[in-house]
Parts: sequence; structure tokens; C-alpha cells
Amino acid sequence: MNAKARRRRPATPKPELRCACGYELGRYWRFCPNCARKQVWPDTARETGAECYKCGWIVSDRFSYCPWCGARIYEKGSSAESPLKAPKGFTFHARCDWGCGGGVEYPMPQCPWCGREQSWSEDNEFDGDCPHCGRGVDDWMNVCPWCGGDAAGQDLIPEALTRVRRLLLVSRIRPWGYRVLLRPGVSGVDPRFPKIVEIDQQYVIGKRKRDEIPWPMLVGLLAHELGHSYLYHNWRWTRTERFRRVFGEVDKAYRGVDTTWVDFQRRRVATTLVDHVSAYAATHPQEDFAETFRFYVTRRGRMRELFAELGRKRKGLVTYEKFLALHDYARGRWRTA
Ligand SMILES: [Zn+2]
Ligand SMILES: [Zn+2]
Ligand SMILES: [Zn+2]
Ligand SMILES: [Zn+2]
Ligand SMILES: [Zn+2]
Repeated sequence: MNAKARRRRPATPKPELRCACGYELGRYWRFCPNCARKQVWPDTARETGAECYKCGWIVSDRFSYCPWCGARIYEKGSSAESPLKAPKGFTFHARCDWGCGGGVEYPMPQCPWCGREQSWSEDNEFDGDCPHCGRGVDDWMNVCPWCGGDAAGQDLIPEALTRVRRLLLVSRIRPWGYRVLLRPGVSGVDPRFPKIVEIDQQYVIGKRKRDEIPWPMLVGLLAHELGHSYLYHNWRWTRTERFRRVFGEVDKAYRGVDTTWVDFQRRRVATTLVDHVSAYAATHPQEDFAETFRFYVTRRGRMRELFAELGRKRKGLVTYEKFLALHDYARGRWRTA
């Protein structure tokens, strides 16, 4: 399965720029990702001797527009006629997207010469994209440094998240520090970052309207992806005799990338396959586990109820054993024998 490579920022030492709360900031971030405080970047070092009258951020008196808030700041002496690459106090990072001839510095949202919107490729700077504004954010950021919105996008699926947390609680699956992120592209968990659970944001925003997504599907999808995260987090368990016997060999190189989300809203165990809870579970041992986990959690870990259904549907013994293995492991009753 083809997964879009997850993006990781190389550790680049930066000068100390900190929010009042102590969180380290990137230059010209609008909001603190930790405390959501609005930031202002004035001409503290007196590099240009000019600040925007509207937003108070550093500008150059050569600019025609404030590159931060877009206000027109043209005065005599501005270089509207002959845009510069970079006036004093600014660095040239790129030419204006619109070809006005001027230069722009990252992360200016607007061109200081022609005032038009700029787009920046932030693939190497951040882990992913903000579901609200599309600009770069890191996995553990709470607030988007650009738009101030929820950088994880959890605010877009509050009911489903609350429901899943509740289900995990009543199923007595102890929290393992997972983090759900709404991101463009795919739903899945990268084994290198076992706690990060990505949910394709198209189910919540964009083309598919929010009221069109079946709610149980989102809960099911979350439970399934959390199953992948749980397994990666407890990977040593997969090396045990009992785990191998019921789920088989889980290949480390595999990454669960789930596109068959439609299946995930089914709350009833499928009848077609004797040894698996659903058809999708039969595609790979890791999917088998994620599906078993989903059923276990969405059915609140009620073994008697689950077993009764397995009996009615004439499931094979190994299907029972999968649930039992998870049940025992979650309750700390795990024996490797
Ligand atoms: Zn802060
Ligand atoms: Zn401004
Ligand atoms: Zn321009
Ligand atoms: Zn944003
Ligand atoms: Zn999966």
C-alpha cells in the first residue's frame, strides 16, 4: 500500500525565540502553539525603524504593503515602482509568487511590494498541515501558529472523540498516550510514530460535508486506527507465542493505510469468514488485530455478548481466541506460556 511519507522536521538549532509562557517559537509565528497567545513581532532590534501602523509588526519603509496583515503602508519612498529583493532588516527567501519582481521572506503571507498572497512549501519544516488553514503544523502542537485554530483538528470531531475515549475507558484499555490528528491524505498509523493516529480530514471537512459522514463510521474508523496505534505501542506482545498463534506474523514493514473506511461502521461481526471478524481483517494480520480491537472496544469489552454473537455466526475457535488474547492483555493477565 502506498502511503504518503510522513514529514519530519530535521532538528535545526534556531535562535531563542520564546513566548511569554516559555514555549519556543518560530520567527514570525502569529500564535503560540502552546498557550495560543497572539504574537507581535515589532522592530525590537531597531533594524528597520518601521512598524506597521495596523498590526505593529516589523516592516520596511520601502514596503508598499504590510507583508503580515496586508495593510497598505505606501508612503513616499516606498518602492512600488521598483520592488527590492530584500530591504534592510529582511532576508530574501523567494521571489513573489506573482512575478512582481520583489522578494519575500519566509513566512510572509503577503508580498510587501504588490500585496498579493504568497504560498510557501512547508513540507520540510513541519510534520503535517493544519486542517483549518492548510499551513504547516507539528504533531504535538495544540494551536496552529498561523491561524490559531486547533492544530490537531480535534475540535472538528468532538463527539466522535468523546465517544471513543469513553468506549476505551469502559473497555478498560488503559490510555497509552495516543494522539488523534485530522490530516489530509490517508488514515493510518506510522510504526515509527506509534502514538500518532492520523484520520483523513476529508471525512470531516472539504468535499464531504460534515453532516454527510455517518457518525458510527467515524467512531469505527477511530477505534480501528487506535488499534494499530495500540499494537505498535505494545509491539513486544506480537513476539509472543500466544499472539503469533492467534493473529499470525505481523510484518514490521507494513503500515496500516486504511481506505476501506466504509467497512468500519459495521458493528456486527461478519458471517462470511470463519476465522476473522470482518472481511477487511483477513487482508493482513495487523488489520486483523485492528479490526478485533475495533469490535472489542465498540462492544465495550463485553466478552459474553461478543462470544454469544460469535456462536450465532458459527465463527471458528481462533476468532474467540483473538478476543480473549486482547482481553487478557488489556487486563494485565498476560502469560507468555
Ligand atoms: Zn505561549
Ligand atoms: Zn500590518
Ligand atoms: Zn509581489
Ligand atoms: Zn491553521
Ligand atoms: Zn487498518
